[in-house]
Amino acid sequence: MDLEWNGSWSKAAHGYFNEIIEIGATMLDDRMRKIGGFHAMIRPVVSKKITHLVTDLTGIEAEELENGDSFQRAMEELTQWIGNGPSVLLTWSNTDLSVLVENYRFFFKKTHLPWMQNYVDAQAYCQSRMENNDGQQMGLKRACEALGISDEGLTAHRAQDDSEMTARVLAKLFDRKSFEAVIRPADEEFYKRLTFKPYVIGDIHHPLVKSGYLSFRCNACHRRLRTKKDWRFFNQSFFADMVCPACGKDYSARVQVKKKYEGVAVKRKLNEKVPKPAEPETITKGEN
Ligand SMILES: [Zn+2]
Repeated sequence: MDLEWNGSWSKAAHGYFNEIIEIGATMLDDRMRKIGGFHAMIRPVVSKKITHLVTDLTGIEAEELENGDSFQRAMEELTQWIGNGPSVLLTWSNTDLSVLVENYRFFFKKTHLPWMQNYVDAQAYCQSRMENNDGQQMGLKRACEALGISDEGLTAHRAQDDSEMTARVLAKLFDRKSFEAVIRPADEEFYKRLTFKPYVIGDIHHPLVKSGYLSFRCNACHRRLRTKKDWRFFNQSFFADMVCPACGKDYSARVQVKKKYEGVAVKRKLNEKVPKPAEPETITKGEN
């Protein structure tokens, strides 16, 4: 599935809201053969004004959406199209899924997608199956190019064609065993993980900031360093000037503690302060 959306500030949504304006989907059987397609244009209600960004990217104009379905109607049609059989939803990165959940919450006051049984992030799966995986998130177009998949007759950044491209990439890389290993049931835990927002901890006394995170040793003599002044928090990190009690070397330490869904991620960095070379003596000559 692929979505296009239009972002706007919304009073009703209490902030920035990404309103879905187009849904495209391609249905594959369990051997990745195409067995159907779905497309809906959605008449926006939160913002009728389509941003230039969206029009430039997708070519969708406000007039085109006037005859679109309501989000509610489009979801009824989608539910019927999916049917009752076992299914797995795939999107290229879970951003589209997050936006869909956000729209469901806004229009239906529901936090779960009733028709979603299982989910696979097609982007993560396909990238794990590709060589030259540099860890950078790969765009759909780049994946097509890398795999020699033709996008002939397809328009990028239109929902149905993007879903078709995703299907082609998936079909090329599909392998039953590795695919089945990444299928996630859309249960309570799944939604918690999806909607969890990682955050950086800014309070040095927070119980998740273990004292060991703030402890450093001298590069030269391995003695435990002493802080010269209290830790300060700025730029999403704790900072402190430190000194080695044995050899007197000066350091600056930086520690970031981030709460992620899976646990705590800690980044630590220690830089030795190189003493500045003494300023050359300036000889002041008399003015007159
Ligand atoms: Zn030392």
